[in-house]
Amino acid sequence: MLTTAVYDTRSYDREFLQRAAADGGIEWRFLDFRLAKETAATAQGAAAVCAFVNDHVDRPCLETLAALGVKLVALRCTGFNNVDLPAARELKLTVSRVPVYSPYAVAEHAVGLLLALNRRIHRAYNRVRELNFSLDGLMGVDLHGRTAGIYGTGKIGRIVAQILRGFGIRVLAYDPFPQREWARSLEVEYVDASSLAGFSDVISLHLPLTPATRHVICRETIELMKPGVILINVSRGALIDTTALIEGLKSGRLGGVGLDVYEEEEGIFFEDRSSQVLQDDELARLLTFPNVLITAHQAFLTREALGDIARTTVANLQALGAGKPFVEGSVLT
Ligand code: NAD
Repeated sequence: MLTTAVYDTRSYDREFLQRAAADGGIEWRFLDFRLAKETAATAQGAAAVCAFVNDHVDRPCLETLAALGVKLVALRCTGFNNVDLPAARELKLTVSRVPVYSPYAVAEHAVGLLLALNRRIHRAYNRVRELNFSLDGLMGVDLHGRTAGIYGTGKIGRIVAQILRGFGIRVLAYDPFPQREWARSLEVEYVDASSLAGFSDVISLHLPLTPATRHVICRETIELMKPGVILINVSRGALIDTTALIEGLKSGRLGGVGLDVYEEEEGIFFEDRSSQVLQDDELARLLTFPNVLITAHQAFLTREALGDIARTTVANLQALGAGKPFVEGSVLT
């Protein structure tokens, strides 16, 4: 039996992981707190740990895991910005991730945020529940004929582009590794990052968080954007400088902002904090804007995506147990 400590576990993680491992071989230890240097000692006796987006897998955490004899850090997500990979390599710890899972889940959520923001559906929903049937302040625009900029045309960005083309939206794209044939087939136009910022009515971010892409949306890039632009981020919070975002909203440069991720989401998102005082002043400020719509990192939360995530994670754990190769594209170290 391969003992696996699963951190930051929610009911759906438990359900899908247990189902994917129904034929046995894995002894689960489900823990509801996050993995970090302070909690890493709880991996005692486990051969593998299973971590998620807000676990803090830094060098001290990895050192504790290695000292306990843990062999594998299996991330049940695609992004790996929260793991110190060079440290893992030095410590001879294998780190794996889920390289692909339903990109439709994330892409459709991005488009959902856009549609809701443009037509003020989040405001209309609250209003109608209070028996306020007035339409003042709910006017949107036809998206048909507008221009969208897709920043990053990997698996998710390409699907967002495809959905938006279906709406009759002109799609511009920026990616250091353009997919020319795909773009031709959908009549998507690759441009440089400044042109994307300057010509788009909607900008959607679909690039990974790396040291090079941290705060890729900052004061300077926001100043290049068309007044009234709608900005969507379902990728990673730190792609956006939140202080600059708030300034852009206050000045009116940004006409709407849809976020599924937030720079300082760790410790806030995925938790019920409804009975507590919110300590994060920038998040509190963002929540006061009528044209900001925030969801708490739920873009991946579909049955299909959770099934894919669980199957790949379990396949990698079983591969570790059997000394077999991991799922292609999973191994980071
Ligand atoms: P992917 O690796 O398929 O695509 C990323 C693309 O970004 C690549 O084409 C790459 O060339 C491009 N890129 C890299 N640096 C860039 C830069 N500086 N400017 C523009 N483009 C750049 O990844 P994906 O599966 O499409 O996922 C994209 C991101 O979505 C992930 O990194 C992850 O952070 C995020 N994500 C969020 C959720 C969620 O639940 N909110 C779920 C899954 C993934």
